[in-house]
Amino acid sequence: MSETSFTPRVFSGIQPSGNLHLGNYLGALKRFVDWQAKDIETIYCMVDLHAITVWQDPADLKKSTRELCAGFIAAGIDPEESILINQSQVPEHAQLAWVFNCVARMGWMQRMTQWKDKAGKNQQNASLGLFAYPALMAADILVYHATHVPVGEDQKQHLELTRDIAIKFNHDYGVNFFPETEPVIEGAATRVMSLRDGSKKMSKSDPSDASRINLTDDADAIAKKIRKAKTDPEALPSEVEGLEDRPEARNLVNIYAALNEQTVEQVLADVGGRQFSEFKPVLADLAVSKLAPISTEMARLMQQQDEIDKILARGAERARAITAPILRQTYDIIGMVPPPAV
Ligand code: ATP
Ligand code: MG
Repeated sequence: MSETSFTPRVFSGIQPSGNLHLGNYLGALKRFVDWQAKDIETIYCMVDLHAITVWQDPADLKKSTRELCAGFIAAGIDPEESILINQSQVPEHAQLAWVFNCVARMGWMQRMTQWKDKAGKNQQNASLGLFAYPALMAADILVYHATHVPVGEDQKQHLELTRDIAIKFNHDYGVNFFPETEPVIEGAATRVMSLRDGSKKMSKSDPSDASRINLTDDADAIAKKIRKAKTDPEALPSEVEGLEDRPEARNLVNIYAALNEQTVEQVLADVGGRQFSEFKPVLADLAVSKLAPISTEMARLMQQQDEIDKILARGAERARAITAPILRQTYDIIGMVPPPAV
């Protein structure tokens, strides 16, 4: 079975769990914009059904979903060029997820590091949704027959599981119906780390606001967070090898490289030998110059809630032209009696 029989199509999503941050921007949003510029169909999603796998205040969730939509557009996603959707408005995601719950095996889910990290020591008290999350993610992707999924490093394991689900489905039913999706994990910042702890990734759900740069932070907040970012006492190295065992230094250099669209080698050739006291203000200026226009545009769009809601409604309509036939064919393959045509 080869994937080449599937038309290339890009899908990716972000959870509207608040606090959209620099890691989401560099690892995901910025990549999404790059893909949009190529000659390939792109579908981007606010995955609200994933967000509720942990508690979300209902009013906050509505606001975060609209804010995320504003974030996509402010970062450069054009809702005419790409299909921009809110997951719960396209019911085929959840419908296919149920089918995949019956394809995926318990053992596969138990191995997921995100499940182990997020459920922590209290697995018995975690939601069933948090455990089943990767099957819904597989459905998000495969309900479009998407072939390429740009994501940050942390999602690699979920994409491998998506392939496993596609392979098992195709094998069990003797079809070549779902593609074996390719993860696309590219750039200098596929795993932006917390500014307070170089061993933890920057996350929306980190309780410490100082750990991340939010896309809604103003220039002062960005500069302050970078100034206070954890570092070591050494000067910056001139070669990449000099960043080994220096996770905090490596993180700041990676962020600089990704924001300035340079390689890490190029950045170190410029800043090698400098102290953090010199490098941090330069990084802060760069971050402000790249992020301030996005946060200003987000704030402007948030004043136009009706416009955002219309964009999402239109996106859902376009999406369903793809997802409804794929779900119908899936049901047919697995032996569901089709409803009468309307
Ligand atoms: P949460 O903590 O609620 O899981 P999150 O910050 O991990 O939030 P997600 O919505 O789960 O954000 O992920 C959206 C996209 O952003 C995914 O493609 C993910 O790989 C990417 N991403 C998340 N955090 C980082 C990071 N620190 N560096 C690079 N990419 C990231
Ligand atoms: Mg996450």
